[in-house]
Amino acid sequence: MSGEPWALGVDLGGTKTVVGAVSARGQILSRERFWTEPTRGSELVVHSIVRAATALMSQLGEPQAIGIASGGPLDPSSATLIAPIHLPGWRDVPIGAQLEAELKAPARLVNDGTAAALGEHHARGGDASDTLLYLTVSTGIGSGLVINGRPYLGNSGNGTEFGHTTVVFGGRECLCGRAGCLEAYSSGTAIGAIATEALGEGPASHAVLSAKDVHEMAVAGDQRARRVWDDAIEKLTNACVDAANCYEPRWIVIGGGVAMAMADLHPRVAEQVASQAFMGKGATPAIEEPRLGAASPLVGAALLAIEVSG
Ligand SMILES: [Zn+2]
Repeated sequence: MSGEPWALGVDLGGTKTVVGAVSARGQILSRERFWTEPTRGSELVVHSIVRAATALMSQLGEPQAIGIASGGPLDPSSATLIAPIHLPGWRDVPIGAQLEAELKAPARLVNDGTAAALGEHHARGGDASDTLLYLTVSTGIGSGLVINGRPYLGNSGNGTEFGHTTVVFGGRECLCGRAGCLEAYSSGTAIGAIATEALGEGPASHAVLSAKDVHEMAVAGDQRARRVWDDAIEKLTNACVDAANCYEPRWIVIGGGVAMAMADLHPRVAEQVASQAFMGKGATPAIEEPRLGAASPLVGAALLAIEVSG
């Protein structure tokens, strides 16, 4: 037993779930991972979370609080997952109450983008004057915002969906029902779909091209793949200039598997924001990679839970 106060962080993803012990200083003391397999139903997944938490508690004792990060829609006030897009078939799951009953600690539920923004804000020593926008570019595009040190929850508690702002009026259809969203151009799913349309069928092993295929083809010198890849970066870059104008953040943190494969993304965004954003040079945000890697939501959710319970 360390004796150090800690919280249980849960990053509930559509593919994998991470359950970790996080100290009040934001350090990960220990963690467990498992495949979520959401189609087996929420009860079995919650059981897996409890089992992982119990293993951590056998090393570290009782947690001070539980912080759960998940995609939405969710209701933070009742810690209920309403109908998460990444967990098909789950409806009105009171995950906070379920974990409180099993683990005997107060639980909070927060949008995973918001949690990631909190984790990255803390990792930079951010204080009450600092604003941070977090973007994750993977199969989709997620976002979270900390404004002057406080997580921005929005009216329903689901925070921001920066991936669903318009970059092309009347453009490509988006999963959200609108047209021309950033996610419809710069997400991994969109990059693969656009390239498949532009280049025809993919390799024999693929029904459609993936973003990884497009990246590899672009690196190998395929000019059509390069154009698709560059267009995705350009739209993401322009969207970041818009975000800089909206919030004047100190930091824009861009992570996620697709963003990290875009080798020149961060310097390109920095150059465009410096030259185009309204506030001009000197006050422009730093464009950075996540300091916590993929652990930003886990750490942020745990820190929020500690703060609220403390
Ligand atoms: Zn959309």
